[in-house]
Amino acid sequence: MTEYSNAPFDSLFFPLLEELESKHLRRSLRLLETPQGPSVSLAGKNLLNFSSNDYLGLATAPELLASFQDAAATYGVGSGASRLISGTLPPHAELETTLASFKKTEAALAFSCGYATALGTIPAIVQQNDVVILDKLSHACLVDGSRLSGASLRVFPHNDTEKLESHLRWAREKFPSARILVITESVFSMDGDLSPLKEIADIKDRYGAWLMVDEAHGIGVVGKEGRGLVDALDLGERVEIQMGTLGKALGSAGGYIAGSRTLIDWLINRCRSFIFSTSPPPASAAASTAALRLLQSPQGIARVRSLHENLAALSRLCPSRIPAPPPSAILPILLGKEETALAATAKLAEEGFFVPAVRFPTVPKNSARLRLTVTASHSHQHLADLAAALNRVL
Ligand SMILES: *Cc1c(COP(=O)(O)O)cnc(C)c1O
Repeated sequence: MTEYSNAPFDSLFFPLLEELESKHLRRSLRLLETPQGPSVSLAGKNLLNFSSNDYLGLATAPELLASFQDAAATYGVGSGASRLISGTLPPHAELETTLASFKKTEAALAFSCGYATALGTIPAIVQQNDVVILDKLSHACLVDGSRLSGASLRVFPHNDTEKLESHLRWAREKFPSARILVITESVFSMDGDLSPLKEIADIKDRYGAWLMVDEAHGIGVVGKEGRGLVDALDLGERVEIQMGTLGKALGSAGGYIAGSRTLIDWLINRCRSFIFSTSPPPASAAASTAALRLLQSPQGIARVRSLHENLAALSRLCPSRIPAPPPSAILPILLGKEETALAATAKLAEEGFFVPAVRFPTVPKNSARLRLTVTASHSHQHLADLAAALNRVL
C-alpha cells in the first residue's frame, strides 16, 4: 500500500457525469430496435428517421446482404489476425481492387473503420519536425491522428484559404525541409458544406505540400456515381491521400485509403492501425465491394439521383431554412444553446421525427444544432411531413 492513492473510482466519475447532466451535455445510448431506414423504432417509439448516414439506403440493400451472406458462408465470420500475420482473404483483395478503380487511383487499402484509418495513416506520413495544417472543423479522427504524429499542428479557420496560405508560408520559412501535410474534408460532417478543394490544391502545390482529403460524407453522395468531390473536380492526380469510410453511404463498415501504389505499400509497412489490428470481417469487405459495384450500375446512379432530388424537394418545402438545394445530405439547423437543441429534438420526437441534436464536443460550445440527414429512401410525403413539423416546432 502506498500512502497516496487515486480517489475511489466511481466516486470520482459519478459527480462528473452529474455535472455533464447539469450542463445539458450528458449523452446516453438508446436502443434502436429496427434496421437503418426511413422509419425506425427507437426506445419503443416509431419515428421517421432523419439521423442516419446511410444516405443511399444501402445498409439494407439486397445486393449487399447477399454478398455479405455469401462471404460469411465461404470465409467465416472473423478474419483471425492482422493480414500481415495470417494472410489476405479474397474479399479484402477484391475490395481494394474495386476501391482503387472506383477512386481512379493506383491502389487502395481497407481498414476496420474510418477512425482507425486516420489514426494510423497520418503518423505514418508525418512525424516530429514535420507540420500538419488542418481545417478547424476537421473530424476528431483527423485531429487525433495529427496529434499522435508528433508533428507541429496549425489550424486554419473553416475553409479560410488565405489563412491556410499564411500557415504554409510560415511552415516553409520556419521548417524549410519539413514535410507539410494539409488535411481537410470534402463534405464537412456537422455542417454539410464543401471545402474549396481546387483552391486548396492550388495553394498546397505552390508550397510543395501534400494534401489529404477525408471523403467520409462525400463518397456515395458527390458526383453522378458518388465517387466524391476529388473526382468531381478532377483532382485525383493532385491529392496524395484520399480517405473515407465504408460505413456511411456505402452501407457496410470499414475505412479506406486510396492513392499511389507506393503510398499503400508504405502504409502496409508503417501504419500501426493496419499492422497491429485484426483485419475487418471478410463479409463486411464483400458487402463494401457490392456497394461500389452497385454505385456504378443504373440502380446506384438512380439512388444518388433520388438523394439529390430529395434534397432539392426539402429545400422547396422549407425555403426560409434551406434556401438552395444543399450540396450534401447533411443539413444543420443551428440553435446555439445545448438545451435549445435538446428541446427541439424532444419536441420533434413527440411529433414522430428522429432528428438528433449535436452538442459539444462534437461541435463548438454554444453552436448546438439539429443535424438532419436526408436519404434516397425518404418519400416525398416523409419530407413534406418533416417540413411541416419543423415549421411547427422551431
Ligand atoms: C464518420 C467519420 C469518420 C470515421 O469513419 P468510421 O468508419 O465511422 O470510423 C471519419 N471522418 C469523418 C469526417 C467522419 O464523419
